[in-house]
Amino acid sequence: MPYFGFKGGIHPKYNKEKTSGKQIEKFNLNVGDEVVIPLIQHIGAPAEAVVKKKETVKRGQLIGKSKGFVSSNIHSSVTGEVVNIENAPHPIMGSVPSVRIKVTEIDDDFVPIDEVSKFQDKVLAAGIVGLGGATFPSHVKLSPPKKIDYLIINGAECEPYLTCDHRLMVEKTAEILKGAKLIQSELEIEKLIIGIEKNKPDAISAFESLKGEYDFELIPLEVKYPQGGEKQLIKATVNRVVPEGKLPLEVGVIVHNVGTCLAVYEACEMRKPLLERVVTITGAVKEPKNLLVPIGVPVGKLIEACGGPLGNIKKIVMGGPMMGFALFNLDTPVMKGTSGIIVYRDTDLPDLSMNNCIRCGRCVEACPMGLVPAIMEQFSVNEMYERLSEWHVLNCIECGCCSYVCPSRRPLVGYFKTAKREIMNMMRQKKDAAK
Ligand code: SF4
Ligand code: SF4
Repeated sequence: MPYFGFKGGIHPKYNKEKTSGKQIEKFNLNVGDEVVIPLIQHIGAPAEAVVKKKETVKRGQLIGKSKGFVSSNIHSSVTGEVVNIENAPHPIMGSVPSVRIKVTEIDDDFVPIDEVSKFQDKVLAAGIVGLGGATFPSHVKLSPPKKIDYLIINGAECEPYLTCDHRLMVEKTAEILKGAKLIQSELEIEKLIIGIEKNKPDAISAFESLKGEYDFELIPLEVKYPQGGEKQLIKATVNRVVPEGKLPLEVGVIVHNVGTCLAVYEACEMRKPLLERVVTITGAVKEPKNLLVPIGVPVGKLIEACGGPLGNIKKIVMGGPMMGFALFNLDTPVMKGTSGIIVYRDTDLPDLSMNNCIRCGRCVEACPMGLVPAIMEQFSVNEMYERLSEWHVLNCIECGCCSYVCPSRRPLVGYFKTAKREIMNMMRQKKDAAK
């Protein structure tokens, strides 16, 4: 299959060199440390706590039960005692109900998930969600109502700074492939494609070396942001366009992140629940690292584990610099969707003072969804949401390419995020009123 590419996109400075060659290290907790595990770490309904204060829990034990089809189970990442059920800081929602657990024993074993026969039930039992950042419950994505003919494994990792997927692809190649093959055979998908950006030649070689053992096609991808966006990856690899407001399954495709494939393998072959993940901690820290972190460890502890900050911290971002979220509290815990922690000093940040739009058109050229951000901005500022809908703002993937290239530093993506939220609320209200 040739590389078909996609329109738009940008080439930001990648800044991956500090951690791309760093092997994954285990982050170790001590007896007496505490983790705070949010009951909502996924898209959909929050999980319901099934443990109580002072209860003893084992590593891997279910502590939050999924509520409804679009929801996910939550497990304890440590063996310890439940200190409290309380609100913990969350980068988007402010605070969310969470289970605080004090470590009483360092335990490498885990409570296995229940023995169930159906593939999707194993994925549900293990609490697997999309680990590329979308956190959509995987058992839902793995229950397509129609025939799928392409499974695409997303190894693009196009966000600057992040290298957690890169390291997984180098160090856990066979396990990722086994997880992908399980998905492929369970859903009877004809073709398996693995897409990896060309700036990860060691990851490409690692997969190439297993070509004799597993049947798949590897497509080296152009290094361009947002190459790992689901719609962009589908266009670039199989030349199909996902219609506005639709999911990839509409065009016969399912996309899964490499970390999700590993989690599927561990759930199905080892009965292991999702209780830890790899996080890249980088930027202005003394020793940037890729750490395997139990879910619920506060971000401040990870910065300490990397030798502490280099100079005065001005900003901390959870996720990548393009689509991540600024943190206001170092107690914010690592969640299933946390791919990175990036620490910035004053001198690392660009000047964000805003000027008037000069109608240069750069935002239009950069938009990978074919939108017209300069015009959409005018409607956003004036809260003209119906007009914005006509200009397809709901198709915006919030990639930030438009803001990145704007010479006038207009905060375009911020406007579109707000506008999308407002439009969705209005649509919900209309639907409720019609009931
Ligand atoms: S944030 Fe939205 S409008 Fe801006 S470039 Fe990305 S998709 Fe286009
Ligand atoms: S890139 Fe900025 S200045 Fe240029 S047209 Fe778009 S909003 Fe205006």
